[in-house]
Amino acid sequence: MGKTAKIMEKSEKNLLHVYNRFPVAFDYGKGVYLYDVEGNKYLDFASGIGVNAFGYGDKEIEKALKDQVKSLTHISNLFYTKPLADAAALFNEISGMDKVFFTNSGAEAIDGALKTAKKYAYLKRQKAGKDTSAPEEIIAMNSSFHGRTVGSLAVTGNDHYREPFYPLMDGVKFADFNDFASVQSLVTENTCAIIMETIQGEGGIIPADKDFLLNVRKLCDEKDILLIVDEIQCGMGRSGKFFAFQKYGIQPDILTSAKALGAGVPIGAFGVNKKVAENSLVPGDHGSTFGGNPLAARAAVTSISIMKERKLPQHVEELTPYFEKKLDEIADSSSNVIERRGMGFMQGLVLKDSVKAGGVVNKLLMKGLVTLSAEHNVLRLLPPLVIEKKDIDKACKLIAKVIK
Ligand SMILES: *Cc1c(COP(=O)(O)O)cnc(C)c1O
Repeated sequence: MGKTAKIMEKSEKNLLHVYNRFPVAFDYGKGVYLYDVEGNKYLDFASGIGVNAFGYGDKEIEKALKDQVKSLTHISNLFYTKPLADAAALFNEISGMDKVFFTNSGAEAIDGALKTAKKYAYLKRQKAGKDTSAPEEIIAMNSSFHGRTVGSLAVTGNDHYREPFYPLMDGVKFADFNDFASVQSLVTENTCAIIMETIQGEGGIIPADKDFLLNVRKLCDEKDILLIVDEIQCGMGRSGKFFAFQKYGIQPDILTSAKALGAGVPIGAFGVNKKVAENSLVPGDHGSTFGGNPLAARAAVTSISIMKERKLPQHVEELTPYFEKKLDEIADSSSNVIERRGMGFMQGLVLKDSVKAGGVVNKLLMKGLVTLSAEHNVLRLLPPLVIEKKDIDKACKLIAKVIK
């Protein structure tokens, strides 16, 4: 039996089968390339689902993490650590948020954001002498994705993911993304928050329309509804700014981040503005054993610092027109592609219904290019932020060949 077959057999025998994995076992990475256990080389345009912003084998990240493991990997949140203090200051600096809580994953950041919004509304009712047992309502978007925990699933607008797990959290209503009237129609006096991705990821790489996001922000201001912006996938430089909402000139009340935040080490975060920080969670309301532990926090410090030093968001901004032009050429020349859409290094090619995105991803993988799908019909590209023109050329050549 070959090396890959052995790993596959052991995995399938012991792991709960919730992923249909590709028959490839990766061994290590270098630059923007991945190598499997058979020695095959792949150009990476998926980044471990938007995580590996710096590609692979970065010496500075390696050094920082090794150094942290040597001194202190974990201590509880009952104590202060320098990495945690530094991570919080850096996160607030790049996001413009006032206070932050670190989590272990994206879904957990969403759960924390939802709890924060509920507590804010609860205190508001209490102050006004209103019934605090009234159900807080949250407006989420159709075709959104916010994670797999019971809380994050409750605001995920995808029936297929939700249905087997009812009843989920009460009080969630779904509006159509980029349809302001549909959001307005769901607002009641009990609405405490509106949650959305700035660029829908799993839902098919759909950026928010500028008017839509601005109108939702205005609505939230007028009615003191909290705007929760999920930038777990589109944040951390991928849009060409540190956070995609910065391209729209708005600021959320609550921001969620994860994926690329820890340069591959699991860490998420939710940040809140001053108004929310001062009127929501207090000691005893929330916590996490691992959240923001020294290793994860050091990873976030390293990730944010080197992203700033190397001006990676700017690099994305500069290379985006070239990337988009190359993808547009594919879209224009292939009858199998309906359109290209996206922002920065978060791009999708929308395929004709008869072409399955999963099949395209599989064919590309066999040709040495790692990509992703979104929905059933979108080829999703999330390359490491450090790619250069030559990498775009190579990837686009392979994509053009496979899509035809
Ligand atoms: C991946 C993702 C999540 C969930 O993050 P996990 O770390 O997998 O829990 C939430 N929201 C968005 C937009 C995501 O892309």
